[in-house]
Amino acid sequence: MAKIIVVGDGPGGLSCALFLAKNEMDVTVFGKDDTAMHYAELHNYLGIPKILGSDFQEIARKQVTDFGASLQDALVTEVNKTDDGFGVTLEDGSSHEAKYVVLAEGKGVKLNQSLGLTKEGRSVEVDRNGRTAVSGLYAVGRSTKMNRSQAIISAGEGAAAALDILSTEAGRDVLDYDTPPKE
Ligand SMILES: Cc1cc2nc3c(=O)[nH]c(=O)nc-3n(C[C@H](O)[C@H](O)[C@H](O)COP(=O)(O)OP(=O)(O)OC[C@H]3O[C@@H](n4cnc5c(N)ncnc54)[C@H](O)[C@@H]3O)c2cc1C
Repeated sequence: MAKIIVVGDGPGGLSCALFLAKNEMDVTVFGKDDTAMHYAELHNYLGIPKILGSDFQEIARKQVTDFGASLQDALVTEVNKTDDGFGVTLEDGSSHEAKYVVLAEGKGVKLNQSLGLTKEGRSVEVDRNGRTAVSGLYAVGRSTKMNRSQAIISAGEGAAAALDILSTEAGRDVLDYDTPPKE
């Protein structure tokens, strides 16, 4: 089972973690629930007529942990490429390893900057699946669209990156479909 670290716990990071954990991947999300969603009241998230951003976050965090992802209340200070994946350092100095890293930093792009992927205040360049120029490293959400930031777009980008990781691991295209129970 591939180990994946998601940095950032807004809709981009949580959506990615949801798809990965639901499909049995070993996922850890680092973040301090300091997302812009706490300032929002959504009226434009398809399928949900109206919801406070904070309520959305509470539901999303439970949904993600119910599928087995680990949400860790910590800031990531460094991400390094290693021979077989990535080393991730937290603010307390502890180190973690992962085969894939998904950066869902939001408005700040410090880690993307430190990896040479963008400059301050600028969007990170990614392909349609959130792949960056570094193999195994993805960027999703606001950091890839600084001036076009919407919750549903971040969530969609997180899902696309997750499907790309799942497909890479499976060696074929993976879809996450469920169907209603038969009567
Ligand atoms: C006032 C306001 C109103 C809004 N209203 C709407 C609206 O009505 N509809 C709508 O669609 N959108 C709205 N938005 C935008 C919406 O909040 C964003 O589109 C959405 O939050 C982006 O999600 P994201 O996951 O990309 O980034 P964010 O939600 O910003 O999440 C990024 C997370 O990563 C964390 N993080 C960053 N770096 C690290 C690190 N090194 N280690 C650990 N964690 C880290 C951050 O603390 C944060 O929790 C609004 C935003 C604001 C500010």
